[in-house]
Amino acid sequence: MPISRRIALIFNMKGENRSTANGRLIHAPFLPKNLKIRMPASRDRVDSLAGRAYLEIRNKILKGDLAVGEALSRRKLAAELGISVPPITEALQRLEREGLLESKPRVGTRVRVPTPRDVEDRSLLREALETQAARLFAERATAAEKKGLQRMGREVDQLYASCETASDRNFLFLVNTYHMSLHLRIAQCARCHALRDAIEKEQVLIFNCLYDTAVQRRNLASDHHARLTDALARGTAAQADAAMRQHIRTGLKEVLKGLKLLDRNGSGWRHKKRTDSSAR
Ligand SMILES: [Zn+2]
Repeated sequence: MPISRRIALIFNMKGENRSTANGRLIHAPFLPKNLKIRMPASRDRVDSLAGRAYLEIRNKILKGDLAVGEALSRRKLAAELGISVPPITEALQRLEREGLLESKPRVGTRVRVPTPRDVEDRSLLREALETQAARLFAERATAAEKKGLQRMGREVDQLYASCETASDRNFLFLVNTYHMSLHLRIAQCARCHALRDAIEKEQVLIFNCLYDTAVQRRNLASDHHARLTDALARGTAAQADAAMRQHIRTGLKEVLKGLKLLDRNGSGWRHKKRTDSSAR
């Protein structure tokens, strides 16, 4: 069965992914008509052109259509998205404030090249927030929610296994999106709005997705998420905490390894930045 069909089946099993509320959705044109997938960790308003431009450009970055280090042209993006330049400028400013882009006077704007320090800092923040979510999930989630999470864990593993052969960026993006929704689901079932909001607001899942895309992390253990979700569903709060910590640290090691390779192929701008005392 083609991979796009398989992922469509997985998403079709979940009625929630058909929701059209709040504009937090991505339409995947190669999936069955009307199938829309909920994009986690977005608090975005798409009732404005700038909001739409923000989402579209962010998705291009997360898909790898705009690679880490790639320079952006406002005019080109405006033509591609059919949106005038001012909303594009507004969207780029927001993405820069959020840390996905960086700009330099007289040089331009590009997709931010993360330093190892950036990645480590984000990972530490993610560990603090998500281990707490894991503890609360173990204590507060219902039996049905635990079972549902275990099913998602197995599906995420299957999807990542399919990625070894898939070169379709749209497919990889959907897998990453589904992966993010698993982690956000844990926070939802932890029943602490402030914690869930913090995970969303700090974009911990978005950055994780960006780093994965940037370094093309693929070689996860085949049961990476099944083991995590089993520990959360069956273990004590302490065991859930430990499993989540290990899960995040394993991912961090892989990303840092990949980042070294990326660094070797770094752009001229990166080298220029290194001589700048404000760069770290
Ligand atoms: Zn994960």
